[in-house]
Amino acid sequence: MCIDDRTPKKDRSKSRRSESGMLKKPLPGLNDPEGDRVPEFLPSVVDAHVHLFPDNIFAAIWHWFDDFGWPIRYKMTSSEVITFLLSRGIDHIVGLHYAHKPGIAQKLNAYMAKLCRANSRVTGLATVMPGEENATDILKEAFQLGLAGVKLHSHVQCIDVSSNAMHDIYQICSEYNKPLLIHAGREPKSPGYPCDPHLLCSAEKMRQVIKSHPDLRICVPHLGADEFEAYQQMLEHYDNLWLDTTMTLANYLPLDYSPDLSRMRTDRIIFGTDFPSLPYAWDRELKRLCELGLSEDSLALILGENAKELYSIKDKHSALGEGQSAKRKAHSVKGKV
Ligand SMILES: [Zn+2]
Repeated sequence: MCIDDRTPKKDRSKSRRSESGMLKKPLPGLNDPEGDRVPEFLPSVVDAHVHLFPDNIFAAIWHWFDDFGWPIRYKMTSSEVITFLLSRGIDHIVGLHYAHKPGIAQKLNAYMAKLCRANSRVTGLATVMPGEENATDILKEAFQLGLAGVKLHSHVQCIDVSSNAMHDIYQICSEYNKPLLIHAGREPKSPGYPCDPHLLCSAEKMRQVIKSHPDLRICVPHLGADEFEAYQQMLEHYDNLWLDTTMTLANYLPLDYSPDLSRMRTDRIIFGTDFPSLPYAWDRELKRLCELGLSEDSLALILGENAKELYSIKDKHSALGEGQSAKRKAHSVKGKV
């Protein structure tokens, strides 16, 4: 089904304007300076949008980004990614991956579960190709391995959120009380994807899913780019929706929008970066988040507390033995009183 068939007349200019998408051509990298560490005054920081893949898939992703996305500044293996972020003061990582074809999700999930077992400060999500054989069993197995939710990508996997294949995913996530992180927004659209995200994705379709599955917790990354207003309104209406900020604070993507997080439900906004697939400094968005004038309470929620709740991340700071982390934690608690 093509959503353009149903687009009201007044919105047609918008559709035409966005036909080519943000990534009609690859974007340039930025040479912005990077910091050594997470600033000391910040509360506990969870990066809830970090990509972890086996080496061969990372290599294929870098290749894709060279052709269609942007120059990736941090071409690292999964273990290098984890060491890099944790050694700079990120307290916890939510690791994500996605299966771009049937038959590989099981191996990817086993890989993610192994990374999580090796490091208690990494929480991993599972993936599956919706509609593939045994999709439900693949997810059940992943949950048994300890994976904390499901990550899907509508553009890479050509997902229509209203399809029958997706209903199985919603059901299993609800049954096991696991959140679903799904890139369901229309942007950044690229000709390098096998389908057209503007035909496949819409906030309205997502609204129907959120509304008809009140027991299913859903997180949409990139604040729902590029239907920001629609997603922001949905946050007000539905308690089972979260949005992550990934790449929307960087002032990098060609967006006609700068998010005002203070006007949104700060108990439903989650900080994430898309590290290591970045064209700019790892802490660019962290620094910008600090400049938004948010209250200490809101910062603590967005930077860590909301992600800990959504992904059931246990507080493991005591195991760190790091002065900075302990100090940040105390600061965060103080801010809540
Ligand atoms: Zn991502």
